Amino acid sequence: MTERAQAIRNVVIVGGGTAGWMTAAALARLLGGTGLAITLVESAAIGTVGVGEATLPQIRRFNSLLGIDEREMMARTAATIKLGIEFRDWGRVGDGYIHPFGRFGQEIGPASFVDYWARAHARGMVAPIGQYCLPIMAALQGRFEPPDASGTRQPYDYAFQFDAGLYAAWLSEHAQSAGVVRREGRIVDVARNSESGAISAVSLEDGAAIRGDLFIDCSGFRALLIGETLETSFEDWSNWLPCNRAFAVPCANGGDYGPYTRATARAAGWQWRIPLQHRVGNGLVYCDAFWDDADAAEALMANLEGEPGAEPRQLRFTTGRRSALWRSNCVAIGLAGGFLEPLESTSIDLIQSGILNLVELFPHTAIEETDRREYNRLMDLEFERIRDFLVLHYVANQREEEFWQAMRAMPLPDSLSARIEDFRERAILPDYADGLFQPVSWISVFLGQNVVPRRWDPRADAMDADELGKRLAAIHGKIADDAAAMPLHLDFLERAGARYGYGAGQ
Ligand SMILES: Cc1cc2nc3c(=O)[nH]c(=O)nc-3n(C[C@H](O)[C@H](O)[C@H](O)COP(=O)(O)OP(=O)(O)OC[C@H]3O[C@@H](n4cnc5c(N)ncnc54)[C@H](O)[C@@H]3O)c2cc1C
Repeated sequence: MTERAQAIRNVVIVGGGTAGWMTAAALARLLGGTGLAITLVESAAIGTVGVGEATLPQIRRFNSLLGIDEREMMARTAATIKLGIEFRDWGRVGDGYIHPFGRFGQEIGPASFVDYWARAHARGMVAPIGQYCLPIMAALQGRFEPPDASGTRQPYDYAFQFDAGLYAAWLSEHAQSAGVVRREGRIVDVARNSESGAISAVSLEDGAAIRGDLFIDCSGFRALLIGETLETSFEDWSNWLPCNRAFAVPCANGGDYGPYTRATARAAGWQWRIPLQHRVGNGLVYCDAFWDDADAAEALMANLEGEPGAEPRQLRFTTGRRSALWRSNCVAIGLAGGFLEPLESTSIDLIQSGILNLVELFPHTAIEETDRREYNRLMDLEFERIRDFLVLHYVANQREEEFWQAMRAMPLPDSLSARIEDFRERAILPDYADGLFQPVSWISVFLGQNVVPRRWDPRADAMDADELGKRLAAIHGKIADDAAAMPLHLDFLERAGARYGYGAGQ
């Protein structure tokens, strides 16, 4: 069904957090040439959530589409490099592993590396899988160098950890210089077309009305347009991901600049550590049914490596997503559309997918039901696959506390039960055609949390055991040498001109 006959010329973005400014910058850059007028409304009085500081490598694709100079971005946002996420105490207390932005081993025969590793592991003749992964070994030594284009080293990717406030401010400059008009003020009213129900304008406290053809709801948890105005229902996924609160607090760096995020499991939740150039971001995500607020805040403050930079700030949330992210002439991007807790740093990536899917399906002449349907299908899949991956971290635990026992006992989504069973039984892990986390991510969590395959591809048994041992040792040695040859992370930032304040007069 065609909802509007005229061309889509005026886009109004409601909200100036990470979602709003990423959307504004991308639309201006990628569609600005089509004559689109983009206005962004934000309210300093309301502010932003401001805690999304760890990203995934996909952000580098976004940067390159926008023509962003990454070294300038790093210097402006106090960013550090991220090679993966370290998980401590998730399987059993004392366990640890890194989910890397890379791969394990290399091709050594017709079966996959993991099948050979599983065979060797069953005979006790192999190192932990992480030692066959270059970004993991570099991360643990606090080293970094960009991937090697010559192909002599194992391939890997990287992401960034940045100051969310500085990032939004920097993107805002970027977007405004590309033609986005910023309006400051609190939206107090939303007008709708009496026939179609589509949104026609938002009104500010000072009485100004901002009219638009397409509205992007980036208003955060409040979901001003998609939720309050259009009454799109929220699908609550707390039965699978029950953590619903967090405390966040910055602190001074105790001297560890390892290029990775850390997630440490605690009694009824987990604590994050995100090292930036000028401070460390910390937070404790927990479930209020198992941990009261005061105890959770105390646990966070007792586990900081340096002087806290503020009082802990509480955030409340419900995991889930809107039943439709594109409804009528409104597309929800960011927290307005849904939230999956930050265990795998997926929110900014979901913002990016929301933007890029919108750009590809952008309704230049009229909003068609087919565009909406395809957009919602793609985003639903993205949300559901991330949800399954997050749930795996909780369910594959062997901890004693009541919370962790309850996590083990929860009924799983069917899509996840089958995936766990296939891996545990036979190391089977199909690729997703769409979806963020590919087999290497799943393998990291499975093996890191003690879900080890009982059987493997029989072709892995065909190699002579001595030969297999030699090949594994050669890969192990090469990776150790390549990691040790990289510069220290901070030295790399210095040499690259990416230190905070570099060239920015700060
Ligand atoms: C505890 C926690 C940890 C997180 N960690 C990570 C992480 O490590 N990595 C990651 O990728 N993501 C993380 N996230 C998610 C990340 O913070 C968000 O996805 C990101 O900040 C985007 O937020 P947003 O722009 O959608 O909303 P917000 O930042 O809340 O922005 C909303 C905007 O809407 C405006 N607004 C609202 N109402 C009105 C109104 N009436 N009138 C005018 N303007 C209005 C506000 O002023 C603001 O500008 C985390 C989230 C939480 C809760």
